[in-house]
Amino acid sequence: MEREKFIPMKDGTSYSKRKGFTPLHVPPLKEYAKIVGEEPIKKLEEVSERLSGMQMLELSSTPLGGGVAEMLHSSVPFLNSIGIDDEWKVIKGSKEFFEITKTLHHLLHGKKGKLTAEDEKIYFSAIKENVALDIIDYEPDVVFVHDPQPLALARELKKGEEKWIWRCHIDIDEVALRRNPRLWDFITYWAEAFDAAIFTAAHFVISQWPLPKFIIPPFIDPLSEKNREMSEDEIQKELEKEDIVIEKPILAQISRFDHWKDPEGVVSIYKKVKEKEECQLILAGGFATDDPEGERVYKELKETTRDDKDIHILCECSASCINAIQRASSVIIQNSIKEGFGLTVTEAMWKGKPVVARPVGGIALQIRDGYTGFLINGEEEAVKRILHLLRDPKRRDVMGKRARRYVKEHFLLPVRIVDYLLAADFINRMKGIPEESIVSFHPWFKISKRVW
Ligand code: UDP
Repeated sequence: MEREKFIPMKDGTSYSKRKGFTPLHVPPLKEYAKIVGEEPIKKLEEVSERLSGMQMLELSSTPLGGGVAEMLHSSVPFLNSIGIDDEWKVIKGSKEFFEITKTLHHLLHGKKGKLTAEDEKIYFSAIKENVALDIIDYEPDVVFVHDPQPLALARELKKGEEKWIWRCHIDIDEVALRRNPRLWDFITYWAEAFDAAIFTAAHFVISQWPLPKFIIPPFIDPLSEKNREMSEDEIQKELEKEDIVIEKPILAQISRFDHWKDPEGVVSIYKKVKEKEECQLILAGGFATDDPEGERVYKELKETTRDDKDIHILCECSASCINAIQRASSVIIQNSIKEGFGLTVTEAMWKGKPVVARPVGGIALQIRDGYTGFLINGEEEAVKRILHLLRDPKRRDVMGKRARRYVKEHFLLPVRIVDYLLAADFINRMKGIPEESIVSFHPWFKISKRVW
């Protein structure tokens, strides 16, 4: 089934062998071995054999749109294909609930403000509704809760022996969080009910929470429709569908329409580049059901760019169209002001593209400045780097090759998913893990400094 047509069951179940609902598929393991090599696959098989029979459940807030859904679409069927019983369920929430969780998201990104007592009440009553709907109707061994939207479920639902792990995908900062005591109290109260938390990078870890923490970055699926190899012919056909000619150099940013991704800044960078070099800009974005602001941002962008025929604002493109845009681009831009990880950066790097990005959040984990891409501090530097890349195809090629190699080593599904399994197993089996523990299966701390 194509992801774009993916519809969960009425109760939010997105994948469950128990219920006979398995609409997502991945290729067999041997196909992945051709990409990552036999060694990582052997390690994966050893771990999955040892954990065979473990029941895991993923709880998230949207079946489509954004990095979490992107990962779960691949990782859930992948885990099932290697003998780990992983289910996925999407929580229910009204527009009002998602407006509040979006505010929570803004606050966690450091925006000034607070959740009012009324907001907190609405948030909690939506969580209660999910509890009443029996969101968990069996007894999994490990429950993964993704991002802040379903956070409160652990305190409400944790009962028996099962372990709850919060997977925080967002750009979160302990110092900034501390500056907002009300927010700190709110989020800490819910987080403390978990048995462990997973953060994308060392600099996101909330060290004062009394629970073991893991550092595990996300991954992309190299064989998904979004990332599979494509012929030149296919790329061209996909772009023709959007009335884009590939002869003129393409700059692109692929991202949900969200001010945190600063698409307005991308337009401004493009205009300055275009004064010196002929090029076109693609801003391809989509909406997630848990992000009520997307449509407004999209409409504003459409309106402010309508006089320039070389700016293409594309909405809700298919995965193969996104794949084709990334492959057809000369330079990929990621101008985010905050970024949990930025799977779009990983996807572009995997396609051998140089990415020019702000050094925020998880981007600093991926781009080694001047080596696998460029980290930019401000518009002027962005314009300079993009012009340099547009004028030097050889540099683009060399940088792109290094970027692809870096992703292959660190951020591909069969390699990184082992860390999730080890974390689940660790928490599931071990008793009395010191709450100060910070566990990393790779020396990420060496390369994950905040850069700004
Ligand atoms: N994406 C997409 N279509 C779009 C825009 C984004 O399929 O029009 C995908 C993108 O390819 C990536 C994910 O959505 O896989 C975004 O993940 P990322 O970590 O970059 O950002 P998030 O949206 O989670 O903040």
